[in-house]
Amino acid sequence: MTQITSQKLFARAREVIPGGVNSPVRAYGSVNLDPPFIIRGRGSKIYDVDGNEYIDYVGSWGPLILGHAHPAIVYAVRERVARGASFGAPTILEIEMAEELCEALPSLEMVRMVNSGTEATMSAIRLARGFTGRKKIIKFAGGYHGHVDALLIEAGSGALTLGVPDSAGIPAEFTSNTLSAVYNDLDSVDELLMICGNEIAAIIVEPVAGNMGTIPPQPGFLEGLRERCIKTGIVLIFDEVMTGFRVAYGGAQTLYNIKPDLTCLGKIIGGGLPVGAFGGRRDIMEHLAPLGEVYQAGTLSGNPLAMAAGLATLRTLKKENPYPELEKSSAYLGDGINTLLTEHGIPHYCTRVGSMLCTYFTAASVYNYETAQTSDCERFARFFASMLKRHIYLAPSQFEAGFVSTVHSQDDLDLTLEAVKTSLAEI
Ligand SMILES: *Cc1c(COP(=O)(O)O)cnc(C)c1O
Repeated sequence: MTQITSQKLFARAREVIPGGVNSPVRAYGSVNLDPPFIIRGRGSKIYDVDGNEYIDYVGSWGPLILGHAHPAIVYAVRERVARGASFGAPTILEIEMAEELCEALPSLEMVRMVNSGTEATMSAIRLARGFTGRKKIIKFAGGYHGHVDALLIEAGSGALTLGVPDSAGIPAEFTSNTLSAVYNDLDSVDELLMICGNEIAAIIVEPVAGNMGTIPPQPGFLEGLRERCIKTGIVLIFDEVMTGFRVAYGGAQTLYNIKPDLTCLGKIIGGGLPVGAFGGRRDIMEHLAPLGEVYQAGTLSGNPLAMAAGLATLRTLKKENPYPELEKSSAYLGDGINTLLTEHGIPHYCTRVGSMLCTYFTAASVYNYETAQTSDCERFARFFASMLKRHIYLAPSQFEAGFVSTVHSQDDLDLTLEAVKTSLAEI
């Protein structure tokens, strides 16, 4: 019998799936390896077809804060699917989800469910434009808000120039109303506001930047955005697809005590199933169809299985309040890595907010896209390969966050630090 291997599967996948993957970063392009094919996960571990067990710090890119195959989620989905997977009609679960979200995030008065983070940001921007009657938006270089045409602009394409598309297939006209500012830099925002403040519908920001590693907002940055948006009638959108229920139960807006006008959610609120949501001020949300003139829809939106998985996740988090414990375990890991790299004289900059963390291989301080780019990505690739060999599964890019879950044990953390230690000679 021929053995199934990841290598063979990847070759087979590439015949029928572009690049062999359904989302580009999974292809391991930036670390020059072939990705392992995963067959199952349980708790903090995942298992590949080659027979390897890994300690997982990707957690499906953020959703799995409770780890893999959490019993409450498995039970909830099993129990729901037996009663029908989808109806395209109202269900109680959707009300329960909306109530749970509005209770958790102080800025949410109403919420609409969608099926991905991308849909959430796309819809929030359309809504902000419909509500304000303005067409321009501001995003921050290095901020990622899904693969929405208007939001895929070249990072650092210059605050004063029009957004330049960062992908083929996006006409320049589609990004010409997207302006790029510098994260943690209110002056760069003010420059844009001075030129065309009254044409700007929305500022969209990751309150903790999680798609260029992990970059916390500097004191005053989010407050400054809040103030400016109030003054100018601009809709402030927090993209909390990653940070929602991750950095605190109530997201970054609770952690930093700032109320955005609209919030985008995803990842954790689906418990591993495909979900997104956007919500916020009632007077804005009431502009959505069928109440208002801004069209937005979805055949599978509010899907019962996704709602069941999400509700099981949120209720477990609310009941167990694991955030103080997550803070402790993540600090243990982050501090441990920091200390090891310092001892070995490897230039690095460690960042962390709660259970999101990143180690940049650079001597510079990292606080925006430009400083993140000073990282030695080849050294990261060597580190990644070395860790993978030692069965530690990290995100295959320097510019991704690592996630600690509630089921990472002290043993897991110590094994991880041990792997870091033995990896150092190879990087
Ligand atoms: C993951 C992510 C998205 C996109 O979500 P998808 O479900 O992949 O479409 C948007 N914004 C942020 C901040 C994210 O981390």
